[in-house]
Amino acid sequence: MSIAIISTGTELLKGSVLNTNAGFIGRRLGTAGLRAALAITAGDSPRELFNALADALKAADTIIVTGGLGPTRDDLTLAAVARFFGCELHSDPRLREKVEQFWSVRHSGAPAPKSVLRQALIPTGATIIDNPNGSASGIRLDITYAGRLRHIFLLPGPPREFEPMFEAGVLPQLKMLLQPEEHEYTAGFLVLGCGEYSLQVKLEKLLKTFPVTLAYCARPEGTRVFLSGAEEAAVNEAVRLARSAIGEAAFPPGELELIPAIVRELERRNWTLVTAESCTGGRIAGAITDYAGVSAVFKGGAVVYSNELKHRLLGVPEELLAAHGAVSAECAQAMIDGACLRMEADCSIAVTGIAGPGGATETKPVGLVSIGVRVREQSEVREYYFPGDRRTVRERTAATALSLLCKLLRTGKPEEIR
Ligand code: AMP
Ligand code: MG
Repeated sequence: MSIAIISTGTELLKGSVLNTNAGFIGRRLGTAGLRAALAITAGDSPRELFNALADALKAADTIIVTGGLGPTRDDLTLAAVARFFGCELHSDPRLREKVEQFWSVRHSGAPAPKSVLRQALIPTGATIIDNPNGSASGIRLDITYAGRLRHIFLLPGPPREFEPMFEAGVLPQLKMLLQPEEHEYTAGFLVLGCGEYSLQVKLEKLLKTFPVTLAYCARPEGTRVFLSGAEEAAVNEAVRLARSAIGEAAFPPGELELIPAIVRELERRNWTLVTAESCTGGRIAGAITDYAGVSAVFKGGAVVYSNELKHRLLGVPEELLAAHGAVSAECAQAMIDGACLRMEADCSIAVTGIAGPGGATETKPVGLVSIGVRVREQSEVREYYFPGDRRTVRERTAATALSLLCKLLRTGKPEEIR
């Protein structure tokens, strides 16, 4: 099976909306051992949609189209697809009822306008993919084109609607379309604090004789490693070998994310975490709370950008700040201690640094960061120099702080993390 993705929307081409749907499809396909052969973004015009369909059909027999199923003038996907393949559209009574009801509930019982009722149209012979979160349904159309059977999936653009539909209504169908010999097994894991190139050097040699292919995905906190192959047992054995060669920095298979791993470690011991952030301005707390279900272990944090608040909220002594400056190991230590004490937590993370572009002194360059992590009575404070612009310094600071905490939680002794 070969798959192509068409993301529709002029806003995606202009960059005013980030195309997260294509990334989502890519990641979810990966879990089923699949990947797209081509991804196209097309603007909201019939000509662009036609060109995209023609190109996608040259590369693939299964096409996933997102966006353009709504009621507005720029929602052209269904009409374009129907015209492209020459199929008739009809109004599906079940869909019509849903669209009418959806509208009526949101518009004080008013009848749905004609343009809204377009969302009840489907090509004859097509099947419906349920959308529990919106009025536009998804559509699967199986049709012969250029002598080959093609599978066309049309899905609405809003990620909140699209993602659950892809998960429940498309991925299982794609798996069913897969031929047995096309099955590929993939396993992945995260390696903390290790660059993709040095991992490649280590692993390619180690796994030379294994029927697996390796892929690497660089992340601020380390590298994700993926191993794929036709035989599940061989992939698992290769993962076992690779992880034992890497050592403690390798997470267990299937663990690709740092924050859920931290949360699991905390939950296991019934411990709580707080943050005290200067140069990252809340980025670390923000990243932690991006994950649902962290409230049992994450109490919150303080954004202490000024020396005044470092002192007032965390109790960092004014004399310490005067003697060593805010960007110092001494300050980071006082911040983690003060955070645990004042916010009554078992663990804390503190960061203080010069993100730039201004703020450097003769002895402290832009990119100098002190990071502290504390787990009960154990603490670890390190000084780092992260070259790069403000965004890079802040991103690496947050990722490194979380990595340090994770290591201290897992092993009790964080080794050098860069
Ligand atoms: P549409 O289904 O084309 O009417 O899209 C509705 C809204 O969904 C758009 O305004 C975007 O905000 C969002 N959207 C559409 N396509 C994508 C995409 N590929 N990735 C992320 N958001 C999208
Ligand atoms: Mg659109």
